[in-house]
Amino acid sequence: MPITRRHVPALRSWNLPVCRKQGGGYGRETAVCQVHLRLPNVASHEVPPVFDGRMRRLFDTGHREEERIVGDLIATGFDVAALDPATGEQWEYSFISGHGVAKLDGKIAGIPEAPATLHTLEVKTHNGVSFNKTVKDGVQKAKPMHYVQMQLGMHGAGLTRALYFAVNKNTDEEHSERVEYDLTFTLQQLARGERIVSSDNPPEKLHEDPTRKSAFQCGYCLAKDICHEGGMPRRNCRTCIHATAEMDGEARWSCARHKRDLSFEDQQAGCANHLFLPGLVPGEQVDVDPAGNWVSYRMADGATFIDGNVT
Ligand code: SF4
Repeated sequence: MPITRRHVPALRSWNLPVCRKQGGGYGRETAVCQVHLRLPNVASHEVPPVFDGRMRRLFDTGHREEERIVGDLIATGFDVAALDPATGEQWEYSFISGHGVAKLDGKIAGIPEAPATLHTLEVKTHNGVSFNKTVKDGVQKAKPMHYVQMQLGMHGAGLTRALYFAVNKNTDEEHSERVEYDLTFTLQQLARGERIVSSDNPPEKLHEDPTRKSAFQCGYCLAKDICHEGGMPRRNCRTCIHATAEMDGEARWSCARHKRDLSFEDQQAGCANHLFLPGLVPGEQVDVDPAGNWVSYRMADGATFIDGNVT
């Protein structure tokens, strides 16, 4: 894609579960699919993802269950700080100039194996299959995204141990394991995150063929339509060629067209000068007129799509 750097920057993260308002969530993208970071959110879909009542209840159940588990740990005698006393909010650490963020479910002390060692706490609910796999293989292998979250959480908190606490939603069985901080791995993940944020091009897909059995993760990914089905992203600053995720400040975005910084609200709104990042358009770029602010594409069906200020 013959377009300048900066494109796809942390596109698109503001409804990821661990994201902060302007920064990129560091939960999903890290261990599995690079596209996952950018696309599965309100910023990038023509139609924002809509969750039905059942899904909303499911999310709510997960949150409630996590709160219950933290309460149980406290009641059992563990010393748990679920919130950062400085903010009264969840512990939160940002990376990559604020474009990535990791959150903790708490900090916990009094673990029998190491009573004096403060651990970060990661609580997750699982269905039966996921839980059994986690018990069998351990979190690093069974749930690599959770593992990365914990590594980044430890990195941000300056701690060297994490406690992973898993609960089987089907049976209420519990499983816990301690995880050791891995500096090399964590720095690799941070470098990878920065590479993605600063990339010229969309990231590699996890699977080229989403119908393969091994591509089951694509099946429930909100970006699948854009990645594999020729879907168009939404028009806003996060999908605009003129936007840049800046590497100074805190989650700072700027617009080269209007030569100003973009607030979160600006980014959501976009403007009439929006031009899609070419890598997000499911067609072949044919022509471009920077002065006229338009780009033309030949789409898969042979039709011409002109993006920009052409009348
Ligand atoms: S303000 Fe307009 S031109 Fe600038 S990045 Fe946003 S959509 Fe693009």
